[in-house]
Amino acid sequence: MSIYVNRVLNMKHIKVIGFDMDHTLVRYNTDKFEQLVFNITIDKLLKDHNYPEEIKKFKFDFDKAIRGLVIDKDHGNTLKVSLYSKIKNSFHGSKPLSYKEQLKLYGSENIDLREDRFLSVDTAFSIAFVIIYAQLVDLKDKNPNLELPQYAEMANDVLNCVDIAHRDGTIKEEVKANLETYVIKEKEVVDALKRFRKYGKKLWIVTNSGYAYTKALLDYCINPFLEGETWSDLFEITVTLSSKPRFFTDKLSFLSVDTETGLMSNHDKKLVPGVYQGGYGVKLQKDMGVEESEILYLGDHIYGDILKLKKACAWRTALVIEELDKEVTAYKSTKSISVEIDNLMDQKVQLEKEIDELYAKEHEHGQSVEKDTLHAKFDEIEKIDKNLGKHIKSYESHFNPYWGEIMRAGAEPSFFAEQVERYACIYMTKISDFNSVSPRMYFRPGKRRLSHEH
Ligand code: IMP
Ligand code: MG
Repeated sequence: MSIYVNRVLNMKHIKVIGFDMDHTLVRYNTDKFEQLVFNITIDKLLKDHNYPEEIKKFKFDFDKAIRGLVIDKDHGNTLKVSLYSKIKNSFHGSKPLSYKEQLKLYGSENIDLREDRFLSVDTAFSIAFVIIYAQLVDLKDKNPNLELPQYAEMANDVLNCVDIAHRDGTIKEEVKANLETYVIKEKEVVDALKRFRKYGKKLWIVTNSGYAYTKALLDYCINPFLEGETWSDLFEITVTLSSKPRFFTDKLSFLSVDTETGLMSNHDKKLVPGVYQGGYGVKLQKDMGVEESEILYLGDHIYGDILKLKKACAWRTALVIEELDKEVTAYKSTKSISVEIDNLMDQKVQLEKEIDELYAKEHEHGQSVEKDTLHAKFDEIEKIDKNLGKHIKSYESHFNPYWGEIMRAGAEPSFFAEQVERYACIYMTKISDFNSVSPRMYFRPGKRRLSHEH
């Protein structure tokens, strides 16, 4: 598969390639992983927040959430928004909001995503949260006697349980005990890493996961494909528990990790190749003697790995979007439907033009409009609209059944796609996509056409 380009990136100039670990260097069976998060979170809501037994009946349907959605915590709604923050698609709990209801709540203007009530779902780690929250909203609406908390409080409770599940070891112990279920082991990733190294690139890891978890995953995914070395030989620097995005913005202390014992000690000196915990990007870059623009960092989290980095320093950025392959395949298989939609739109535009001409006769030449002709044209437009509706539905059915495309919101790029375009120099489905290009590749974006250039 391909690597997609937003900004010029000359790989010959890149000396260091840094990797996020979870969902980047290591890919998960995301549906299984999120099902696990779902189960553990339900358990915590029951035990730690006294939620009612009814939540045990909640169903896990992976398709119910996609990356890039926005939660309106005050109203119990999930929204899909365009690059202009205009709502294109909305659900109250699990129920689609009609256009009228949506208009009543949010008006026809763009929403301000900086408001506290809005929460962006920008990592694959948030899928279980969205699925549980929607069903809690349904449960509250249907059973006022259950006295569930307000919508916003429920969202915070679910977020809190997901957060703790990630931090207290419940998720990680289960993953470590069943790596083959949750984690994808790919020789192609190691091939790509070795190839980078052959071209003289240094490899780093900067992950928010702790050392023990990082070691378990990399021992499993990387070591089997190395001859006579381990992952810690392959990577010049490994930073664990890095507190991204603060790793890019704040001056945090480094600890050095003893890879034999896992013990940590303060490390205030100059960094040398090895495994660390914490710390910050500027020191890492300076101590290792590279320029900001000579580092390419790859991550999957548009906010924590990419957006914050881009705003704080001049490392180059690459985003891994695991859903991309599926989306590109769907674009290809819907080409004929798209052509049909364009044809119908052309026919509609032509009819609108003819109607305008009929009215022009009246307004500009004082002739009365032939009513039958006019009505016939309006009828034709109505038929085309119905047909268009059917084709759009058929087009969307190739993507997520509830939300459609990740990268588009109707005719416009989605809010998520806009962030990708703005902050990631290049993007791809997975690291092994690098195997299809030279490590000396000069990535150049295609010419972006403005409206008047089409
Ligand atoms: P990275 O992608 O390699 O930087 O690591 C992501 C880490 O963040 C993993 O260890 C996840 O378990 C953890 N994580 C994901 N979501 C949450 C959360 O909501 N709270 C705390 N940790 C999280
Ligand atoms: Mg990650």
